[in-house]
Amino acid sequence: MLNIAIDGPSGVGKSTIAKAIAKRLGIIYLDTGAMYRAAAYFALKKGADVNDESQVKPLLSELNMEIRYAGGVQTIYVNGEDVTPYLREHHMSKAASDISALPSVRIKLVELQQAIARSADIVLDGRDIGTVVLPNASHKFFVTADAAERAKRRLIELREKGSDITFAEILKDIEKRDYNDSHRAHSPLKKADDAVLIDTTNMTAEQAVEAVLGYIAR
Ligand code: C5P
Repeated sequence: MLNIAIDGPSGVGKSTIAKAIAKRLGIIYLDTGAMYRAAAYFALKKGADVNDESQVKPLLSELNMEIRYAGGVQTIYVNGEDVTPYLREHHMSKAASDISALPSVRIKLVELQQAIARSADIVLDGRDIGTVVLPNASHKFFVTADAAERAKRRLIELREKGSDITFAEILKDIEKRDYNDSHRAHSPLKKADDAVLIDTTNMTAEQAVEAVLGYIAR
């Protein structure tokens, strides 16, 4: 079974790399960040504070998350509603980062991710795939890039969408998320000892994809 884990900080291009790998190998891609975003969407809609375990935990039994694939594209349903269009909104990034620190949320989503990974050859991207979700993954990669380089890439992306956000705002946001993700008590962002480190600061997305595919082919 092919289980490829791609971890790394926010805005490093993990999903671009993971999607390209999945396409080239003809396997499924699971965006686990989108699952935390969907959990945040659900909790916010219920009026819960996404930082508060005592508010979120009791709601989780009502959370039915389903991942579907059509033409290789992932769609997330929360209690039957397609929530995919809302997940990339700017405020959802912070809410997802906050809710992902709650143990009850991590337990539920990790179980779901493991079940999906058992069912098919798959590439997963996230923060804890190589360390917690699939410690026995067949291939593990940890993708990094300087925070300023990630902010620059994100600025171009957001400007193309018509946003007037500044470089400084994006950089601050990325640094805050890096800190949150790597300092939380549960499953912090961390390179697995046996993961291959890919630093994309001076690489194009295509070069990063070729580097990863090169390791898989070896
Ligand atoms: O990757 P993305 O930015 O969409 O992830 C949203 C948030 O979900 C991240 O800031 C991170 O805190 C959290 N996350 C996580 N574990 C994962 C994937 C994402 O904690 N496996």
